Amino acid sequence: MIIILSAPSGCGKTSIAKRIISSDPNIILSVSATTRKPRPAEIEGINYFFKTIAEFKKMDLLESTKIYGNLYGTPRQFVEDQIKKGKDILFDIESNGAYQIMDKAHVKVVSIFILPPSLEILRTRLLNRNQDSETDIELRLKEAEGEQNHAKNYHYTVINDDFDQAVKKVQEIIALERLRGKINDQK
Ligand code: 5GP
Repeated sequence: MIIILSAPSGCGKTSIAKRIISSDPNIILSVSATTRKPRPAEIEGINYFFKTIAEFKKMDLLESTKIYGNLYGTPRQFVEDQIKKGKDILFDIESNGAYQIMDKAHVKVVSIFILPPSLEILRTRLLNRNQDSETDIELRLKEAEGEQNHAKNYHYTVINDDFDQAVKKVQEIIALERLRGKINDQK
């Protein structure tokens, strides 16, 4: 099963993804490639594969997109290998890439959209995490408003008001969808 987590930047999606991965050895995170510069504390091969534009364009990608002025994409081979091994794969990607996966995937896809309690809270979170420049934060907030309209195209939406509760909801969705898969298999 492919699990897609999408959210406007700063909604806590990456932290939720990390918690989900560490709590379930059967779920593997898909590590994306990007042309964005690494942030402090980001590690090559763990957070992203950091590429030049020329390198990125040569890659075999399952989906790709341009957002916030940078290219992002999912390396195909890794995902296909994990699916063959019977693992579930978690994608931390934005909606344009999510639609490409939903269209093309040959395995079950469960899509979850994480929403902030409000845009004001999102602004505070982006400022507090102190990772991006002010112009970048404004760009991310502007795109966040547009991104939220995509929530209706996902199977589930989860509001990240309380982090632990949001993680619990995502875990419940995964558990439910695994059960549904099994019920369908029995038919
Ligand atoms: P950030 O620069 O904050 O790490 O990520 C910016 C946005 O790009 C986030 O919404 C993140 O989910 C999305 N993203 C990261 N990797 C990929 C990818 O491989 N494909 C797509 N379509 N989006 C991605």
